Amino acid sequence: MDRRTPSRQQLIEWDHSFLWHPFTQMRDWLAEEPLVIARGEGNYLVDVDGRRYLDGVSSLWCNVHGHRHPDLDVALREQAERIAHSTLLGLASVPSIELARQLVDLAPAGLTRVFYSDAGATAVEIALKLAFQYWQLRGEPRRQKFVSLTEAYHGDTIGAVSVGYSEAFHRWYQPLLFEAIKLDPPHVFRWQRGLDAAAALDAALKQAEEVFARHGAEVAAAIVEPLMQGAAGMWDHPPEYLRALRDLTRRHGTLLICDEVAVGFGRTGRMFAVEHADVGPDLLCLGKGITGGYMPLAATLASEEIFQAFLAPYEDFRTFFHGHTYTGNALACAVACASLRVFEREGVLARVDQRAARLSALLQERVAPLAHVGDIRQLGLMTGIELVRERDGRVPYPTSERIGARVCRAVRDDDIILRPLGPVVILMPPLSVTDAEIEHLVDSVARAIARHA
Ligand SMILES: *Cc1c(COP(=O)(O)O)cnc(C)c1O
Repeated sequence: MDRRTPSRQQLIEWDHSFLWHPFTQMRDWLAEEPLVIARGEGNYLVDVDGRRYLDGVSSLWCNVHGHRHPDLDVALREQAERIAHSTLLGLASVPSIELARQLVDLAPAGLTRVFYSDAGATAVEIALKLAFQYWQLRGEPRRQKFVSLTEAYHGDTIGAVSVGYSEAFHRWYQPLLFEAIKLDPPHVFRWQRGLDAAAALDAALKQAEEVFARHGAEVAAAIVEPLMQGAAGMWDHPPEYLRALRDLTRRHGTLLICDEVAVGFGRTGRMFAVEHADVGPDLLCLGKGITGGYMPLAATLASEEIFQAFLAPYEDFRTFFHGHTYTGNALACAVACASLRVFEREGVLARVDQRAARLSALLQERVAPLAHVGDIRQLGLMTGIELVRERDGRVPYPTSERIGARVCRAVRDDDIILRPLGPVVILMPPLSVTDAEIEHLVDSVARAIARHA
């Protein structure tokens, strides 16, 4: 077998012949040559020609300490020399135990049990199924409904799509989905309705109160992306809103699921976003950054109360009958443990605060004044820059203009990789980003917006 890397042209031909890319209109994809990544170095991706690009969206929001971090590489190599994978069905394994202990230690108080899977979507499915079964086990089978936020995104499996429905993406699957009761978060609707931030919060709280007053006794759980709805286009909400959802779910005797797949592991400046609001959920979904962006791994953390409800003689069949072949994969858990050690050793969270302040100052100075910038939403190192055709009245660009894609395409000439969400340019560099890289990123984006919007 020839182990030499095929030529660039050969790779592109094979990609075009054999691959189907995620979230991609393949007609567009096939019309141009893709960038083929061969290596990574710190905050950079390196293509097959050796050209280096700043990884401006952390390889879709998952890279944390940069690529090829020596500590993570060593952890992976050392684990590979022991064992790559063994099952958690009927057996325990060293790295999955070590990681679970650390996650419980780091997570908000009251979350005592870790259930592993391999993607954010599966972490969400597991939380939904746990909540649903929990109420039957507790003798409250009427609690079958889920509450979620408008334009929430929780992943692409059927249950996750049910609570995270987006008309543009998911209308094809409508008949397959279960119904979720939607709450309008305080964010974007305030623009549509001409409200200020305080009035928007009041309106959102009032709606949430009404929904729970009407449906509270039938709700199995409310699910929310705390503080920042990522895939919606970085829709932020104040900590008060999250605290209110916690209060409402408690008052109505039901569960709160926090989906920290995107916001967890330092993106917002805290290890978990719920810390900004001092909120403890009943179920917590983790993914993306959990392994530092190295391996597919996810976890659903549950309260002891939920865990205890599943304990019974086997023949009662109260077991949580759910699992995946690679649940608790040893390579992934080992590299996740190493990533958590890096957080501590390098004082990562303190550094994120400094970098986020720098990013914020530069965005205000160089991007906010541009004519077509409608709004900038930032929390920690998660940022959305919303482009509008006209700032007065926030007139949007038509979808066919692909304004976000055009701007992100333009920054590639400055050796930066970005991926937009519609008209929102997303900046989400690894937590290891430097001040100089932030400045380069903001300058390039400002130039691209000035020229192309
Ligand atoms: C990305 C994301 C998911 C889905 O994670 P996958 O690993 O892509 O399945 C779920 N929830 C949120 C908030 C996300 O951002």
